[in-house]
Formats: sequence, structure tokens, C-alpha cells
Amino acid sequence: MTQIQPITTESLQQAKRLIFSGEVVAIPTETVYGLGGNAFDDNAVKKIFEVKGRPNDNPLIAHVHKDYDLSRIVDYDPPYAQKLREAFLPGPLTLVYPSTGKVSPFVSCGLNTLAVRVPSHEGAQAFLREVGIPIVAPSANLSRHVSPTSAKHVFDDFEGKIPLILDGGECTGGIESTVCDCTGAYPVILRSGLVTKEMLAEVVGKCGEYTPDLSRGEKVKSPGVLYKHYAPRCKTLLFSEKNAKNAISAYVSQSLENKGVAVLCAEKWIEEFEKVGAKCLNLGKNQAEMAQRLYKLLREAERLCEVLIVVEPSEQGGIMTGVLNRLRKACTSEDVEKK
Ligand code: AMP
Ligand code: MG
Repeated sequence: MTQIQPITTESLQQAKRLIFSGEVVAIPTETVYGLGGNAFDDNAVKKIFEVKGRPNDNPLIAHVHKDYDLSRIVDYDPPYAQKLREAFLPGPLTLVYPSTGKVSPFVSCGLNTLAVRVPSHEGAQAFLREVGIPIVAPSANLSRHVSPTSAKHVFDDFEGKIPLILDGGECTGGIESTVCDCTGAYPVILRSGLVTKEMLAEVVGKCGEYTPDLSRGEKVKSPGVLYKHYAPRCKTLLFSEKNAKNAISAYVSQSLENKGVAVLCAEKWIEEFEKVGAKCLNLGKNQAEMAQRLYKLLREAERLCEVLIVVEPSEQGGIMTGVLNRLRKACTSEDVEKK
């Protein structure tokens, strides 16, 4: 049986007991919900991969409370990483360091680095303080499904498969943390998110962005970025804003053939689609709203419809880099130019 509990002294103690007996527990964070386990316990880490169906070359992020002594798990801490921590942590930024190798070898899937995150969500901090150890916590969704931004989403994927979900309300961030490599001379973004390249560069002067060159047989630094993630269980058709007319025609022809068709678009497009009778899911009017709503709406779409017409916002940069990256991974392209 899977319990959903609000965060109280009792539920935190229950979570701690479960964690120290090798179980996995779902926890809220400000980005998405995580499926947490003891980072020192090989079996707990293996259980996370099993329960999620996660490929075993996709490493996990260790979550710690804000006063945790990093030197226990991090072998080298460059001065620029200290600056980034001061500027952005606790918050949705994961830093990758050379590892001391103290956590289970299954955490980093054979890499000699460790990704560490200090979430700002109060419930996550309370839980991490209660357990006092690093907790590895990938997003609490079945592998390849849409990431969860509420306790209910986690329940929908893991009912009967995990003992406890700590309910910390809806996530305010909505997309996963920015992952930033701190093993080189300057930080390099491995996965974009709510802390943007521009924000990082402002603090430390220079920030790179990693794109693996597979043609040269290079070893991928962050295997997770290669996987198709986040897909809703309905057919998705993606259109760029400049082709919104085609999206409208697609809506009309799809609704002749299929029972459930819905449209996911920015607020400014809603009126246009409602004119042709479309059921619209409102992505919002600014970048932060779009990030916060994206996964929730993709999960709603799969309940509502067989076909989802998606209008991709044309805005680039900032948080949109992360939002568009997730949106494209979730959707089968129609007439969006590949970048
Ligand atoms: P998730 O836990 O589903 O949010 O995914 C974790 C992300 O962090 C994936 O994209 C991983 O590839 C990345 N990651 C975790 N650990 C490392 C590491 N040691 N080096 C590089 N990337 C990592
Ligand atoms: Mg994930």
C-alpha cells in the first residue's frame, strides 16, 4: 500500500525509518517530486532504478540539507562552485563535482563524479535534515513518463510500488534542476533549467553549455540528456508559433478523426483556438508560468485526449531553453524545424 502523508514530525520520522531500512520514499522539491533513497546503500539505489525502470547508465543526483558537510562526498570544490552555491543554493541548481567515492558506486553509474543538489523546498529540507545523509532522488515518475509536480502524479505512477509519498503541495518550479559540471576550469551546463546560463555567467564570468558530439564516439558526460523523457501517453503534434495556422488546420482535421483532441498553447493563442471549438490547455503568459505548468498540463492532456496539438512558444533564452528542451522531448515533431 502507498500512503500519502502531509509533512509532519511523525511522517518525517516514518520516512527516516523507511530510508534506513533500505526503502524508497517520494519527496517534494521546488522543481519536481523525487524518488529518494539512501545514497550509501547499494540495494536502495538499485531499488530506485528498478522501481522507475530507469536505464542503468543514467546517474542519480544526491540531495543534501543546506548545512551538510560537502567534503564527505565531494573530492574537489573549485572556488567558482563556492560562488555558485552562495548565489543560488538552496535552489534548483545541481553541481557535479569529482566524487570521494563514498556513496554507492551505483549512484553515478561508473562515473568518477557526483551530482549534488540542495533543494530549497521547506519539506525537502526538513526531510534531509531528519535523515542527515545524502539522498539520491531522481524524478518520481516511471522512466520516460512525464515528471511529477504533485503527490497525486507520483501516486498515479507508483501506487502499490512504494510505501510513502510525503506531500509538500504542488511544485512551484515545475521543471528539473539545472545540472552544471564543476570539474573543469569553468562551469558547463549539462542540462538547462530554472537557473539559466545567463544567471550563472553573471556570477562567475564564464559558463559553457555542453552538447555531446556523438559522431566522434565521445564518452557522454551526462547520459540522462540523451534519453527521450517526459512523454505523455497520447499522440502529440508539435507546431512552431509561426505555423500556428497549420496547427489550427491540424486541430480541425484531427477532431474529425479522433474523439479527444486538445491544444496546449500560450495564453495569447487561446482565443484563436477556441474560435474553432478547441479545448485548450493554457501554458500561461510568461516563462516562469510555462515552466511551472508544463508537466501538469502534459499529464492532464493524457487523461483528456488521444491527440494533443502543441504550439511551441517562439521565445528563446532564459528559462525557455529548459522549457523548450522538455517540450521537444515530450512531443513528436510536426513542422517545427529541428535545431
Ligand atoms: P533526474 O534525476 O531524472 O532529474 O536526472 C538526473 C540528471 O542529472 C540526468 O540528466 C543525469 O545525466 C545527470 N547527472 C547525474 N549525475 C551526474 C554526473 N555524475 N555527471 C553528469 N551528469 C549527471
Ligand atoms: Mg527524470
